[in-house]
Amino acid sequence: TADSQGVGGYKGHDMLAPFTAGWQSTDVNPLVIEKSEGSYVYDINGKKYLDTLAGLWCTALGGNEPKLVAAATAQLNKLPFYHSFWNRTTKPSLDLAKDLLETFTATKMAKAFFTNSGSEANDTQVKLVWYYNNALGRPDKKKFIARTKSYHGSTLIAASLSGLPALHQKFDLPAPFVLHTDCPHYWRYHLPGETEKEFATRLANNLENLILKEGPETIAAFIAEPVMGAGGVIPPPATYFEKVQAVVKKYDILFIADEVICAFGRLGTMFGCDKYNIKPDLVSVAKALSSAYMPIGAAMVSPEVSDVIYSQSNKLGTFSHGFTYSGHPVSCAVAIEALKLYKERNITEHVKQIAPKFQDGLKAFSDSPIIGEIRGTGLILGTEFTDNKSPNDPFPPEWGIGAYFGAQCEKHGMLVRVAGDNIMMSPPIIITPEEVDELIFKYGKALKATEERVNE
Ligand code: PLP
Repeated sequence: TADSQGVGGYKGHDMLAPFTAGWQSTDVNPLVIEKSEGSYVYDINGKKYLDTLAGLWCTALGGNEPKLVAAATAQLNKLPFYHSFWNRTTKPSLDLAKDLLETFTATKMAKAFFTNSGSEANDTQVKLVWYYNNALGRPDKKKFIARTKSYHGSTLIAASLSGLPALHQKFDLPAPFVLHTDCPHYWRYHLPGETEKEFATRLANNLENLILKEGPETIAAFIAEPVMGAGGVIPPPATYFEKVQAVVKKYDILFIADEVICAFGRLGTMFGCDKYNIKPDLVSVAKALSSAYMPIGAAMVSPEVSDVIYSQSNKLGTFSHGFTYSGHPVSCAVAIEALKLYKERNITEHVKQIAPKFQDGLKAFSDSPIIGEIRGTGLILGTEFTDNKSPNDPFPPEWGIGAYFGAQCEKHGMLVRVAGDNIMMSPPIIITPEEVDELIFKYGKALKATEERVNE
């Protein structure tokens, strides 16, 4: 790879090392981050990097927001922990549920179930949906439809829902009740001469055919990210969600919006559902819910779903599900403050103002002969390197083009997400115009070096 050969004398960190989250090992030369400040992070040698992925699509308010630290500290001093089981809870947990449910306005949400992560939020959705269908006396309505290239998390069920082969291979996944339908990536998958709207119609028809083939009485829910994140930043084609929602509604299938990346301003709207006019039955959030200062996620549920669950719980027994740290008071206190700051600072307006500079500035590189597509909206953007501007002409993987680009960025003091020849960015939403200029400048330098490498 580019890393093992070094990049112009620069020995980068091995971004292609095996997935190391959780496994900590020193034999892969990790980049060790020590400090953060606004849109920047610093490594243990004091080198400064523009953090264009906001940690892992999550530190929306940047690296040193004193109000979040103060909220955590005050809560730690008052009540560092109490649980939320058996009708006991804490004030921050109650207050956050209220704030979060009020913040989501695309359609009414009645209840929020707190988790520690996005994966747990999606696993919780699966249990909620099963419980709901059991309560309605239709236990066979159990299957879930997700999309190829989606990412919904790493636990067994969330990984099953995800449509990325690496999460399935060698793990005996996906679980048998999970089906996958088309990835809505127009550039890669449209037929010759097919418009975006025709493409969306074809995908909605394919979804309907899958439902009919399996039997609508067996399909419980459809899950989708408004903009696909980890699968390569894939915004939906025009009319896609309108058509897909019509199909799932027709067959009494619930819609789960996985807002783990899109929520809280990233797309220039408070939620991805607002942007694409999605009216979900269930919504998963995590990441920017606390701007990542403390781990927390939530599964939100519509009144229709929660009414069934509540009215039937005497018959079916309680919804036996929960985590020690569900509604952790410190995480909730931080999330309450984060939601307050998003509103006070009018974060959606800020993103609307700055997004054109970010999007247009980077999309201006689309002419590069080594770039197949640059795509994105708001403050999320993906770059895909291919030959001949074609989705069907990937560079040989052993050339390590994406890794080379990533190492060049790192050399110039900027961190990006590399996945094969896909580069992903979702900077802190507080990013300033000057920092966007810096980001574009560094991207340009890394791109030029990568073009030279391809032409060598
Ligand atoms: N859903 C989406 C859309 C995500 O991007 C992620 C994480 O990247 C998850 C779920 C899983 O969240 P977590 O890593 O907090 O479990």
